[in-house]
Amino acid sequence: MDRTEIYSRLKSAEGIASLLALEDFSPVYREADRVRKEHVGDTVHLRAIIEFSNICKRQCIYCGLNRENKDLPRFRMSREEIVKTAAEAVAAGYRTIVLQSGEEDGISKEWLGAVIEDIKSLTVPGTEAAPAVTVSCGEKDEETYRYLHERGADRYLLKHETADPELYNRLHPCGTLESRVGCLRTLKRLGYETGSGFMVGLPEQSLETIGSDLLLLASIPCKMAGIGPFISNPKTPLAGKPNGDPELTRRAVAIARLLLPDANLPLTTALSILSHEELSKDGTGIGHDVENPFEFGANVIMKKVTPDEYKAAYEIYPAQFAETHILQDRKDLERMITAYGRRPL
Ligand code: SAM
Repeated sequence: MDRTEIYSRLKSAEGIASLLALEDFSPVYREADRVRKEHVGDTVHLRAIIEFSNICKRQCIYCGLNRENKDLPRFRMSREEIVKTAAEAVAAGYRTIVLQSGEEDGISKEWLGAVIEDIKSLTVPGTEAAPAVTVSCGEKDEETYRYLHERGADRYLLKHETADPELYNRLHPCGTLESRVGCLRTLKRLGYETGSGFMVGLPEQSLETIGSDLLLLASIPCKMAGIGPFISNPKTPLAGKPNGDPELTRRAVAIARLLLPDANLPLTTALSILSHEELSKDGTGIGHDVENPFEFGANVIMKKVTPDEYKAAYEIYPAQFAETHILQDRKDLERMITAYGRRPL
């Protein structure tokens, strides 16, 4: 398949579905890698993610944090704990701190704003710059988003999860796709680097739905997009459903690269988990079932730096994570990225 044909199919959800279904997807992977190199180069950005609270008022039926999961011990880290963890990550070389939590009303905008200000007062070693701060705490009102941006939040990550409004309603007993996308447009208007994303392999999701997901990312347009496989959580109503397919997920990431050439596209944790059976023999958390995990368009890795005492309770889906050693983990990642011929930053 030549480039003209690939690009002509990117115009509609059906066309994208036909690409996703190709027996031989390698021409699309090659094009995604070419576009990645031309637009974002060989740099792989490392982000440190702190999952600072698993308290959630939502009922998303795929997610272990949903409020109906009474088995999950709930936690919220203190401001001091979050800032200490962020400082350790910045000292280890991370230039971006991602603050993620369930969607909860117990976090005031003033409290979160103060955490952000504390993190923005840090300096990335060898530079005079403060770290970038990404917030991922769900749907908030415009005033809260504005306030957090004024306190220093640079980016906001809010996945739309699925672009099919009916599927969205079935998965989210509270919330609508319209409201979620409305938040994304507000974030964009307020000047955030705006990130969205979706899950691949949700029950009753078609390839056309994934096509619509990808077109939605392009319509916002997103500066970041997290595309990861659905992983069934036995403590949710979607217990026992099949997991998303890592290969289909990689295909979706490759198409996202074509639609959003300059975007930051992470190799999501969920993809790394499904991409190999034994978690991270080398401690990096990155799957090795493909020759080079950076050859399908991704240019970002998010690494958990959540303290061990909380990490297990941030159980979106079942996974075993190795102990956190912020500096050593970062060095391992840098070594792995360099071995794949890319430049860690
Ligand atoms: N509360 C924030 C929000 O709603 O955006 C951020 C936290 S939420 C737990 C982070 C992401 O986890 C979601 O956007 C969703 O895509 C992902 N997630 C939740 N359950 C999942 C599952 N079972 N498999 C894969 N990803 C899942």
